[in-house]
Amino acid sequence: MSKVSTKIPLINNSLEFSTQFSFDNTNIESFESSVENYLGDHSFFTALNSGTSAIHLALILLGVKANDEVICQSFTFAASAYPILYQKAIPVFVGSELETWNMCPELLREAITHRIQHHKKPKAIIVVHTYGMPAKMKEIMAISQEFEIPVLEDAAGAFGAIYDGKKCGTIGDFGVFSFNNNKIITTYGGGGLVCRKKYKKNRALFYATQAKEKESYYEHSKIGYNYRMSPVAAAIGQQELNNLEKKIREKKKINTYYSELFDAVDGVELQKASGNEFQSNFWLSSLVVHQDKCGFSNTVLKNHLSKYNIASRYLWKPLHVQTIFKKCLYFGNKIAEELFKKGISLPSGAIQKNELERISTSIQKLL
Ligand SMILES: *Cc1c(COP(=O)(O)O)cnc(C)c1O
Repeated sequence: MSKVSTKIPLINNSLEFSTQFSFDNTNIESFESSVENYLGDHSFFTALNSGTSAIHLALILLGVKANDEVICQSFTFAASAYPILYQKAIPVFVGSELETWNMCPELLREAITHRIQHHKKPKAIIVVHTYGMPAKMKEIMAISQEFEIPVLEDAAGAFGAIYDGKKCGTIGDFGVFSFNNNKIITTYGGGGLVCRKKYKKNRALFYATQAKEKESYYEHSKIGYNYRMSPVAAAIGQQELNNLEKKIREKKKINTYYSELFDAVDGVELQKASGNEFQSNFWLSSLVVHQDKCGFSNTVLKNHLSKYNIASRYLWKPLHVQTIFKKCLYFGNKIAEELFKKGISLPSGAIQKNELERISTSIQKLL
C-alpha cells in the first residue's frame, strides 16, 4: 500500500480513493531526492509533516525509551525537547556559549561526566543550530565520539546553513529540518529527517506511515505514527528548494544591513561567530542589547519598533526555566538566561530595501 503508482489498474484505486486523484508518492519521492542531492553524500532524507515529528522519529530510531536521559540545548524552542517527553524520557539541559549562542562543548562534557558518574549515561545529544547559526560541531562531535553518544542535530531553522563545508543536518547521526511557514523554506507545514544509512531511512518511513508490517493484511507489531509529508506539501517544497540560495542571499543582505546599522553602537551585538567554519543561513537576524552600555533595553527597542508598526520578538526563553521542564537538570551558566533577558530578533523575512530604510530610520531615532 505504500506506493500506488498509475500503473496499477483503476479498479484498485477505486477501492478507497473518492476523488479523481489517486494517492501517488511521486511528488514526495522527487522532493526527497532533490533534498538528498542538495545535502550531498550519505544523506538519506525522509519528508515528514513537521520538524517536531522528525525529532520524535529520530529519538525512536535512537532507541530512546521511558526513563532514559537525553541531553538537549536549553536555549531553543520547546519543540526541540517535547519529543523527549513523548517517549517518557528525561531531558537534561545544557547551556550555551557566547559566540554561536548554541550548546557549549565544555558544559556538554560536564553534563555527560556527571550523568555517567551517576550511572545514567545519556542516550543522545540534541544540539540546535539556533536562528540558522551552526553550533560548534567539531568540538561537539569529538565529545560524542569520545563517550559514544549519538548526536541529533535540530537544524529546524538552519536549512542551508553550513559548518566547515558540511550542510547543517548532515554532521550528526541524525538531522532534522522544519518547513513550517516561518522557516527559510516552507511547505506550509512540513519537515524532514536526515539519516546516514538507507536502512534507517526505511525504518523512519515505516514508523511515519503507521508501522504496517510487510503482509497482505493489516499487521502491526510496533506503535506507528501518521507523520508522512503530503504530496501537495512536497510539490511546494520542490519549488521552494529552487529559491533557497536566493533567499539565503537576501537574508544575508538584511543581516549585513543591521550589522552596519549597529556597528557604531556600543552595547548592541548581533549573533555572530568569528570563524570561517560558521556559515549561517541568517534565518532570523538577532541581537543582544546591553542597557548599561547603550542606554536602552531590548524591551525599550521592541516597544519603540512597535510604535512604528515594526514587528520584533524576544529570543527563546531557555527550556530549563520553563514550567514544563523546571524539574530537569541543567548544566550551564547564565548565558542562556542573559540571551533571553537582553535579546531581540528583528524583521528578517521578505523585506524590501525601502522597508529596511524605514526600520533603520526608526531605530536611528532611538539611538
Ligand atoms: C521550528 C522549530 C522546531 C519545530 O518544527 P515544526 O516543523 O514547527 O514542528 C523545532 N526546533 C526548532 C529550533 C525550531 O525552530
